[in-house]
Amino acid sequence: MSELASLLGEEDPSPAALLATRPHLSLNPIDGLTMEEVPLAAIIAELGTPTWVYSAGAMRARLARLQNAMTGLAEVHYAVKANDHLAVLRLMAAGGAGADVVSGGELLRARKAGIAADKIVFSGVGKTAGEIRLALAEGIEQINVESAEELETVSALASAMGRTARVALRVNPDVDAHTHAKITTGTAKDKFGIPYTDIPAVYRHAAALPGVEPAGLALHIGSQIMSTGPYRAAFARAADLVRALRAEGLEVQKMDCGGGLGVGYHDTADASPDALAGAMRAAFGNLALELMLEPGRWLVAPAGVLLSEVVLVKAGRFVVLDAAMNDLMRPALYDSWHGIVPLRPAAESAVYDVVGPVCETSDTFARARRLPRLAAGEHVALLEAGAYGAVMSSTYNARPRAAIALVDGARWALLRARQTPEELWAGERIPDFLG
Ligand SMILES: *Cc1c(COP(=O)(O)O)cnc(C)c1O
Repeated sequence: MSELASLLGEEDPSPAALLATRPHLSLNPIDGLTMEEVPLAAIIAELGTPTWVYSAGAMRARLARLQNAMTGLAEVHYAVKANDHLAVLRLMAAGGAGADVVSGGELLRARKAGIAADKIVFSGVGKTAGEIRLALAEGIEQINVESAEELETVSALASAMGRTARVALRVNPDVDAHTHAKITTGTAKDKFGIPYTDIPAVYRHAAALPGVEPAGLALHIGSQIMSTGPYRAAFARAADLVRALRAEGLEVQKMDCGGGLGVGYHDTADASPDALAGAMRAAFGNLALELMLEPGRWLVAPAGVLLSEVVLVKAGRFVVLDAAMNDLMRPALYDSWHGIVPLRPAAESAVYDVVGPVCETSDTFARARRLPRLAAGEHVALLEAGAYGAVMSSTYNARPRAAIALVDGARWALLRARQTPEELWAGERIPDFLG
């Protein structure tokens, strides 16, 4: 996009173009923006704003489409961190997905939502002894070990508990995922995984250690990956490792291919699960491996919106919303682009900066964006808010956590009530000596 065109907001997609890729959202001439069969204005009338709304139908359909692409090829483990609400996890469990967790809290959430322990994989660079003990006590499917140091810890803890931990070694393949620097995880300078060249020695060591049983390898090269090139490069390197390990007589059963499948935040298509399946087949097809996949964003991002009210339009240029960076942090954190669709779009358009009320310049959702004309009191939906949205929220500026609702066909239900002011300071103490 040319800089001038972008300044004039000329190349910004229209609401119709944005919604064309999202079948669960439609613009109804009478009811306005509608999710499945529920006008979003009806949810605002009861819950107010800001409010997250998720489409159960979209989540189910996306999981089914991904499972379909992976049939006979790989087991899908939903990456809980993308959206860890119990209802979302229940939907994933009902659709046959396991879970990829990165903390003890996520492990407990997954169990609470009904995901079987033997379908849970635990990733992360800094699992504490307490978290590893929890994983062992629950008897989860696999611990993805991210360092030689962690391998020793798992071995010692499992031995002390009289257990054997099934582990996969997370390889850092030193491949650039060609995504935003803050969500790249598979290059040598990133903190994740075990350096590629160290894997054979660490795997050999794991095979000899008590309390651990090396089941295979894992990788996760980053998030919001839009082409198969980076996957192909990483998978080819991992397949070389599998062959090298087996040539030494080591057993390698499993290959966890990670997550990262991207979605079209603009009016572009989502990354293709079939193309990813093709890359997996090409690299691992004749290695007789049990393949796994850990997608988060792709399954849930497009299924969610963040509803917000326009507080005021300042000098015709700044649209100030009642949602802010404390609710949806991605634009502030990653300069990410989210579509914005008014619930009742006007025919005329204008170019706006869309901002929140928080006292930070980075509290900006969009700069120089061409949008249907907006006025105070009107409502907008920020699109693709189902992943890395509510989970990243904070209460910065003493702003309560927003409400969450779920739409399923013609029904909708509250998933989480808006926080009350009292809940904001619940658990805080003023020591007596302060008087
Ligand atoms: C975050 C993460 C994922 C999911 O990434 P998405 O881009 O949401 O698909 C999968 N695996 C691991 C280890 C992760 O840290």
